[in-house]
This record gives sequence, C-alpha cells and structure tokens, in this order.
Amino acid sequence: METILLLAHTEPDGALAKPALECLTAALVLGGPLTVGLVGARVEAAASQIAGCGAARFLAVTGEPFAQPRYSTDAGAAEALCRAAGAAIVIAPSTSRWARALPGVAYRLGGRIDTHATSVALENGAPAVTRWFYRQRMEAVLSRRERPWMILLDSGCFAPWSEPSGPAGTAAVEPVAVSARETRTTVTGVRAPKTDEQTIRPDANLLFVAGAGWTKKQSDGAVHAAEAETLILGFLRAAQASLGGSKSLVDLSGEGEAVLRFMTHLNQVGQTGSTPRHPKGLSTCCHGEEPHVVGWRFVNQRRAINLDPNCGWARGKADVLYVADAFEVMRHVNRLLGA
Ligand SMILES: Cc1cc2nc3c(=O)[nH]c(=O)nc-3n(C[C@H](O)[C@H](O)[C@H](O)COP(=O)(O)OP(=O)(O)OC[C@H]3O[C@@H](n4cnc5c(N)ncnc54)[C@H](O)[C@@H]3O)c2cc1C
Repeated sequence: METILLLAHTEPDGALAKPALECLTAALVLGGPLTVGLVGARVEAAASQIAGCGAARFLAVTGEPFAQPRYSTDAGAAEALCRAAGAAIVIAPSTSRWARALPGVAYRLGGRIDTHATSVALENGAPAVTRWFYRQRMEAVLSRRERPWMILLDSGCFAPWSEPSGPAGTAAVEPVAVSARETRTTVTGVRAPKTDEQTIRPDANLLFVAGAGWTKKQSDGAVHAAEAETLILGFLRAAQASLGGSKSLVDLSGEGEAVLRFMTHLNQVGQTGSTPRHPKGLSTCCHGEEPHVVGWRFVNQRRAINLDPNCGWARGKADVLYVADAFEVMRHVNRLLGA
C-alpha cells in the first residue's frame, strides 16, 4: 500500500474534532505507512489524542496565523505538510476549512482531489473512493493514477478513532516551516444566520422535519404558528433531535413572515437542500414530495405524520405513516417526554 498523509486542523481547544478522528479510521483502513499532518495554533493536545494510532510520523505547522480558517494560511500549511510527508494519498475531513483550501493545494502539487467521498477502501490492492453524484442519486467507486491523490471525506461515514486502552500518550511532533505568504485577510469574527438556538445537530439520532403544514390554517380555520413553535422547540430540546425543514417552510421564513422564527435555509432538506445522515427521521406536516424526500436518502428509518392518507409518504417513501393531526400527536409526545 502507498504512503498516506492524514491532514487535520485543530479546534479552538487545541484538540481534534470527530470528523478528523473519522478520517484517521479511514486512513488506517487503507493500511499504508501513515503520517499525520496537524495545523493549528498549538497541536500538542491533538497529537497526544492520537499518539497511539500507529502513525510513523507526526508533522505540524503551528502558530497563531494557523488558528484562523483562512485560505492563504490553510493552503500554505497543507502544501508544506504534503511536501514534507511526500505521501501518495492525502486524506482530510470535509470541513469548510479544508473544502476551501485543499483543491488549490492539489493544483499546486500537480495532484488530483476528490471531494465528498463517503468511503475509502482497497480494491485489488489500490485505494478506491466512493462518492455520490447527481444529488445523491448515483453512487460511483473511483480510482486514480495521479498522485498525490487528495480525498476529502464526508463526516459520519466512519466510526471516529479512539485510543484502544489506557491514557493518552505523547507523540514526537516534527515542526514544518511554511514560507511566509502575504495575506490580506484578517478574521474579525463569525457571522451566522439569526437563530434563537442551535437546531442543526448532525450527530442526533433523530431528524425531525417540519413542513409548511405547521403554518397553514387548521381544522378550526385559524393558523397556530405560535403553538407550532412551542411544540417543535419543546420536542427538539427533549429529544435532542436535529431540525430539518421543507423548502416551502424555509422559504416562508425567509420572506420574514411570522412563522417558525428558528427555521432558516440551513435547515432545508432535499434536492436543493441538505442530505443529512441520521438513524431515524420523523416528518411532520410535510407532504413528502420527491424533491424533498431525495434528501432523506441516508435516513435509515422514516416515519411521517400527515392528515392526508394520500400524501407522498404513503407512496413507499416512509416506513410508517401516521394519518393524524401533527399538533395533537406532538402535544401528546411532548407530554410523554415531559417537555
Ligand atoms: C427544482 C425543485 C427543487 C426542490 N427542492 C426541494 C428541497 O430541496 N426540499 C424540499 O422540501 N422541497 C423542494 N422542492 C419543493 C417540493 O416539491 C415541495 O413543494 C415542498 O417540499 C412542499 O413542502 P411541504 O410538504 O412542507 O408543503 P405542502 O406541500 O404545502 O404540504 C403541507 C402538508 O402538511 C400537511 N398538514 C397540514 N396540517 C397538518 C396537520 N395538522 N397535521 C399533519 N399534517 C398536516 C398537509 O396534509 C400537507 O401534506 C423543490 C421543488 C423543485 C421544483
């Protein structure tokens, strides 16, 4: 097997986050001689975290400029690490930082990159990458001759690596120098969409999807948006579920209407939204049309609550469809959960 470089950047606390540990598992699956390349203000905690992983070398680019996500410094650090390691295969987590910087690094090195990989494995002794095409409708297995071959691995596809037993060790880290590049970008802060609380939880066991029905007139002829908010937020807090939305619902919120104020376009699931990975999903007040349901591809068990027995979910798209009023059901569920 060819040599492998695992590229990882540290988090503000100096440690490695789950996507980096998942990549480490993937790199070990391939089985070639492994080098770990770390980037961050300080990397001691990260190196100790994975000291026992069996890597032959630990390389690091450190210093304050590498604490912030920024194309010029991230690409410079990754390029220096790739050159120092001389590895044929470079595996990195598909974080926004690496997704932005690594394609440029592949170009600088004369290599190739594949993004959104969902698996890496050995096929006839050579590495092969699995990824989806055409909005998750077709899956392909790719191999390449060009080296270095950089692979950005999507989160949630491998179990995160953990120390088999005993306390964390220490690793001898070799510093790698980066030739100073002029940068005009200073990170002054982070601007995120306005939400009252964090509702997207990629690691949650359950995806709770709200559709536009929550904001429509109900059997009494009135709209009950305020109660919908209370029921949905109550459930999310009690179940620690992640919140998804249909396009119709997030578009309504985008128009500034007084409905589900915590819902943004980031919550949208579907063809023009996201394709989250959760063991279970519960759809409520959402019709289950194909452009929405295509985003449920990686949800293993699907249930839906809809007043309409002929809704899209009834046509083979859900494992269980409860033909019921979602307001009533969620009131009852929240009572059971003590929410
Ligand atoms: C190119 C293209 C891309 C698209 N991409 C996406 C996408 O990424 N994601 C997406 O979601 N959509 C997408 N759409 C839109 C999609 O086709 C649907 O229009 C949309 O998903 C409908 O949203 P909805 O089911 O929430 O709303 P509606 O179709 O209005 O359905 C509301 C549902 O709520 C039910 N309901 C109402 N009250 C209750 C109650 N008290 N209890 C239970 N049920 C109740 C009704 O029976 C109804 O089925 C796309 C469309 C196109 C053309």
